Amino acid sequence: MLGAADESSVRVAVRIRPQLAKEKIEGCHICTSVTPGEPQVFLGKDKAFTFDYVFDIDSQQEQIYTQCIEKLIEGCFEGYNATVFAYGQTGAGKTYTMGTGFDVNIMEEEQGIISRAVRHLFKSIDEKKTSAIKNGLPPPEFKVNAQFLELYNEEVLDLFDTTRDIDAKNKKSNIRIHEDSTGGIYTVGVTTRTVNTEPEMMQCLKLGALSRTTASTQMNVQSSRSHAIFTIHVCQTRVCPQTDAENATDNKLISESSPMNEFETLTAKFHFVDLAGSERLKRTGATGERAKEGISINCGLLALGNVISALGDKSKRATHVPYRDSKLTILLQDSLGGNSQTIMIACVSPSDRDFMETLNTLKYANRAR
Ligand code: ADP
Ligand code: MG
Repeated sequence: MLGAADESSVRVAVRIRPQLAKEKIEGCHICTSVTPGEPQVFLGKDKAFTFDYVFDIDSQQEQIYTQCIEKLIEGCFEGYNATVFAYGQTGAGKTYTMGTGFDVNIMEEEQGIISRAVRHLFKSIDEKKTSAIKNGLPPPEFKVNAQFLELYNEEVLDLFDTTRDIDAKNKKSNIRIHEDSTGGIYTVGVTTRTVNTEPEMMQCLKLGALSRTTASTQMNVQSSRSHAIFTIHVCQTRVCPQTDAENATDNKLISESSPMNEFETLTAKFHFVDLAGSERLKRTGATGERAKEGISINCGLLALGNVISALGDKSKRATHVPYRDSKLTILLQDSLGGNSQTIMIACVSPSDRDFMETLNTLKYANRAR
């Protein structure tokens, strides 16, 4: 699936949300437009940007999922890591698109990327087992687990840790990020939930999301100032496909023989990242504590921008990708570039009052190509 034709492992989508009631009431005008049939967006009359995908105001959640995300889940079954980012200013639609809000009363068609991906994952697992049995083969075995982290001020917080002190902000967390001998990244001290079904996974996620909002209120921080990283690990043991061993992936770990079949174990990680708001600090007039938060958040977004731009630049890709510059990029190092699939969804507002922030977002996203 990742043939030579697929030059860049990073794809960029832009999503323009509809105007909110408030913006309409206050007489904001729409300053974005999409070229029909092309992935090109105009800001004002003369600023044009082209991306891999552009989703206009009327796009549906389902469309984003099927066009951008679905095949990444399929890749996970072959051992490829994947990362989805939602980038943009606060209020541009990151949480809506990703579905990290876990609104209990949300309508089916409004569900974001995560719930769709989780449903797809468990459905595919069932199908793969059924089809193996039908073909008289031992069914593949799957272990699925999840982690939910928040990065705040270059500090890693565990959203699944129910014993987490509400005052965690003032304490050093015990979480460590390590790299193994093959370049794989793993964490120590993070709660890992083993999950067997879709409802179980969604329940887990809701609790994590709730913990995020509760802690944020207690700390007097808006969640818009932190990055939320939800990670699904998939470990699969299956009968080796008939195709020759040439197709082996990096993540293939063990091969053991049985009298009849040869088995292989494939592992993959899928990260869903709801990034901190990209807005400039001066607009919110932040000082003191807030300003400090702002600076380190920008450090993550800045480092991510540099990493993604280096990945898109063939000469740099071979030499130096600056992963070490932030916790965010260290944590995602083995899931950005290489054999992994990355998609950045840049979320923007269509309203003229947000013109400058939208321009900044489009420029940032443009660097990623
Ligand atoms: P962010 O996470 O970037 O701060 P949100 O996802 O919270 O932004 O979106 C801000 C508001 O806009 C929310 O009320 C959300 O429901 C609404 N919204 C965002 N994107 C869409 C969309 N594509 N369709 C309808 N409403 C949207
Ligand atoms: Mg949000």
